[in-house]
Amino acid sequence: MKRLLTILSSVFGLLLGACQYNPSQRAAPDAIQMHTDGLFEKLVAVRRDLHQHPELAGYESRTSATISAHLREMGLEVHTGQYGHSVIGILRGVHPGKTVAWRAELDALPGEFRDPALFRSQNPGVQHACGHDIHIAIALGIAEVLAKQRKSLRGTVVFVFQPEEETFKGAKALIDRGVFSSITPDEIYGLHVTALPVGQIVVRADEMYAYQRRLSIRLKNELSRADVVQLTKNVNGELSRSRTGEKPWEIQHIGDPVIGLTSRSTVFQDYLIMDATFDTRTENDELVLDFNLYETTASKLGGIISRVERVIDASGHKSQFVSVSYVQDNPTVLNNASLTRFAIRTLQRSRGVGAVRQAVGQVPFFNDDFAYFQQKIPGVYFLLGGSNAEKGFIAMNHAPDFQVDEESIRVGVSSFSSLIIARLGTPDQAE
Ligand SMILES: [Zn+2]
Ligand SMILES: [Zn+2]
Repeated sequence: MKRLLTILSSVFGLLLGACQYNPSQRAAPDAIQMHTDGLFEKLVAVRRDLHQHPELAGYESRTSATISAHLREMGLEVHTGQYGHSVIGILRGVHPGKTVAWRAELDALPGEFRDPALFRSQNPGVQHACGHDIHIAIALGIAEVLAKQRKSLRGTVVFVFQPEEETFKGAKALIDRGVFSSITPDEIYGLHVTALPVGQIVVRADEMYAYQRRLSIRLKNELSRADVVQLTKNVNGELSRSRTGEKPWEIQHIGDPVIGLTSRSTVFQDYLIMDATFDTRTENDELVLDFNLYETTASKLGGIISRVERVIDASGHKSQFVSVSYVQDNPTVLNNASLTRFAIRTLQRSRGVGAVRQAVGQVPFFNDDFAYFQQKIPGVYFLLGGSNAEKGFIAMNHAPDFQVDEESIRVGVSSFSSLIIARLGTPDQAE
């Protein structure tokens, strides 16, 4: 999960919401749950080992070797190094069928986030503060649960362990290198652990996140500091929009039952928010103002540049104007609507209606290069709860004291093993 801003420590009380994890909600098909429970302690140990040995984007060699060893031990076909430290694990069922892919990310974050865990990073300046260690444990768990059912498995499951997500490079590079040229998945799935209550899965058809854009305004270097401050205020005033006047940029509220993502009255819908401060520099005697914005609605992206130009005109700087352009316009996570509906039905059947919720809103500030896979292959990306109020764990990604309840590994493995099996169909069940 890539984020552009650094989140400062904040008050997180509200996000811990009403829905806490209740193990009795676990009602995945028995064999899957039994295998998941049997693997759980091992997966926790794998996760803690990765947490202690985090590696930055582009340097994930130990992580990659750990994953390859586990996949080989399970009997999967393993391919490495299509791009960077990628690992692809292929599990072929005994019966013919379609191909479903599952994605996990390898990289950790730069920085020294406060970490209350006992198994802290032993690699100074690098931390798993986004939860990719949890994702790897879940993906290995799914692989092992499904490998144990190979004899009744229909089709093929491809496990994509991608490097360099935080730099937004890995997924695109893997596609450009033809990772799916010899084996092309029909569908792809993935998840991100975040600050929702553990036990909860949240998903949404279409965009999970707001569209993240970085704009660059170039002006002749003639404006005073006061002019620049006023201009940035004017741009902000013109572009910013929120449905209720509430602040969707207070991301700690995503789990709130009233204004959070899954509420009909969520503040996280129909907004454009932007950085309050712009990055300002001079370059070739031009003044450059760069800023990030987050827009929920694709159809509104097209008008942004001309609106900025009009603000510059109206602010009296027409003669200084040079250009305004996007300097970053990555694709956003875009869930296939019918696969999302299928996933919700299947997960609610196996885990209970309350454990899987539809997001009404879209998460600001974050994005995931899983979006590049979805440009090629229809897929669904889920948010998985990792917070636990009773334990004092708040799984707010890229934030100090980021802690994930490892029960989320159990939830992830059993839920998504069931979903993949449902997508592949059983040998005696026609699709
Ligand atoms: Zn991240
Ligand atoms: Zn992430």
